[in-house]
Amino acid sequence: MNQYDAIVIGSGISGGWAAKELCEHGLTTLLLERGRPVEHLKDYPTATKNPWDFPHRGDMPEKDHAENPVVNRCYAYGEATQHFFVKDKAHPYIQEKPFDWIRGYQVGGKSLLWARQTQRWSPFEFEGPARDGFAVPWPIGYHDLAPWYSHVEKFAGISGNKDNLPQLPDGEFLPPWEMNCVEKHISGKIMQKYPDRPVIIGRCAHLTKPQPIHLEQGRGQCQARSLCERGCPFGGYFNSNSTTIPWAQRTGKLTLQPFSVVHSILYDEKKGKATGVRVIDARTKAVTEYQARIIFVNAACLNTNLILLNSTSTRFPNGLGNDNGLLGHYIAFHNYRGNVSAEFEGFPDSYYYGRRPTEVFIPSFRNLHKHENLGFQRGYMSYFGAGRAGWQQGDYKPGIGREFKDSITEPGPWYVYMGMQGETIPKFENHVRLSPDQKDEWGVPQLITSVAYDDNDDKMAADFVTQGSEMLEAAGCKNINGFNNHQNPGLDIHEVGGVRMGKDPKTSLLNEWNQLHHCKNVFVTDGACMTSTGNQNPSLTFMALTARAANHAVEELKKQNL
Ligand SMILES: Cc1cc2nc3c(=O)[nH]c(=O)nc-3n(C[C@H](O)[C@H](O)[C@H](O)COP(=O)(O)OP(=O)(O)OC[C@H]3O[C@@H](n4cnc5c(N)ncnc54)[C@H](O)[C@@H]3O)c2cc1C
Repeated sequence: MNQYDAIVIGSGISGGWAAKELCEHGLTTLLLERGRPVEHLKDYPTATKNPWDFPHRGDMPEKDHAENPVVNRCYAYGEATQHFFVKDKAHPYIQEKPFDWIRGYQVGGKSLLWARQTQRWSPFEFEGPARDGFAVPWPIGYHDLAPWYSHVEKFAGISGNKDNLPQLPDGEFLPPWEMNCVEKHISGKIMQKYPDRPVIIGRCAHLTKPQPIHLEQGRGQCQARSLCERGCPFGGYFNSNSTTIPWAQRTGKLTLQPFSVVHSILYDEKKGKATGVRVIDARTKAVTEYQARIIFVNAACLNTNLILLNSTSTRFPNGLGNDNGLLGHYIAFHNYRGNVSAEFEGFPDSYYYGRRPTEVFIPSFRNLHKHENLGFQRGYMSYFGAGRAGWQQGDYKPGIGREFKDSITEPGPWYVYMGMQGETIPKFENHVRLSPDQKDEWGVPQLITSVAYDDNDDKMAADFVTQGSEMLEAAGCKNINGFNNHQNPGLDIHEVGGVRMGKDPKTSLLNEWNQLHHCKNVFVTDGACMTSTGNQNPSLTFMALTARAANHAVEELKKQNL
């Protein structure tokens, strides 16, 4: 009864892809998810609500801020979305250094909540560690992943423009979104002054023009509502619930099992491989074991580290595959500390349609072709947008009567914001480990996070603030205000590492196919596998790595190598 070909731990972005690929190849697959079921369409209770349908118009009350300070710092958390976020108190962890761990425990994981920005890595990111001498060299390059990027892009549906940039390779794009008039003006001025800084419209997982494969999935065109984090009644954006999981289900090979907290992976010393997993029922706490020939660990970066660290045996007393003691180390994230805001005078009679689900991007231009001695390593991608103030939900102004009503029919002046997404350097001291004495409600050791920004990050943020301010000044913006927001690591929600890939088992945990060097039938394909973090949004790369590894696993099973 408990025997499957494959077990996948976690049903978020990467787990959904593992399940889809394995089921399509005919493997009976058990998809274990610690959270509750969330069925596409049926379980999106707020998707069509208006602001006035919420008791606090979408904001969280003070009491909730006081009880859940970490999750309240996430921009997407609010009255309309709170049911898809983990509240601080429900799942405690120990912050040796401040770390805002943002989680979604349900079928679909954080795929319900993500901001859907999707850029491919370029050769510059894969070659970075070897070129600049940090972390360990990646065991794969862009050419290894390119066909798998294409594979996942076609199925998920990615909108974008073919920009022909070596630092941001093009993909299989649906039609792009459009910049508004002020963004076009700013882009033109930036490219005029800085020819090495191309400005492009963002690429995102939204169906601007659904293709037959998307219609077959039961998904429709994005309506530019930008209420995505509630779940989309049109299936206009990619999440596991609307796309990969139902696709896996229709093969008849998938068993999706919510409320299943994976405690650890079981290792058989005689066979020299993993045989299954130990699961605790989230509601009854009953313990059950399930067996499979291969196991995909996709619980999201830090929980994947936790599960492996907790999978101890005589052979692996420090965690599964952890012969070199590096499991849990070299955690990296994205530097989001630099911000610039500004105003723009002009185009007073112009507006734009809908709430576009992407922004304008300037791919990395720092330390790109070589290390440039700027005082910091690596680079950052910049993003910006322009909009009319006073017309967004949350732009409350006090008032009453006719004059007030008249005033709110007029959009305010144009405002501009700019932000950064910088590469951080993976370091041994940035790590997670298990608490020796504190456990959660299910008897699983709590995670200790010991991860921090460093001097390199702050120098990079300062450079972004200077460059961003100068670019907006060149574009004619006024009242430019650049600042470091000093946000905690974690709030970027792009944490990676701890189970990094590499050629050498002495310095890495996973091989070039995402298999544990010392336990080949266990695959890790979520953010935990990342050797470095690049400056692109990460999830598209997790999807491509997962699809590639799953197809390799199928081949290896056929050859009886696993
Ligand atoms: C507000 C927000 C905005 C974001 N914007 C972007 C963006 O624009 N672009 C981008 O690339 N990324 C973005 N991200 C990040 C993106 O959501 C993650 O990179 C992605 O979801 C990671 O996929 P995953 O499969 O590793 O983890 P998840 O999607 O988090 O799924 C992990 C699953 O594992 C389950 N799980 C955990 N532990 C266990 C256990 N012990 N047993 C069983 N199940 C377990 C969880 O409940 C969860 O369902 C954003 C995230 C958020 C929250």
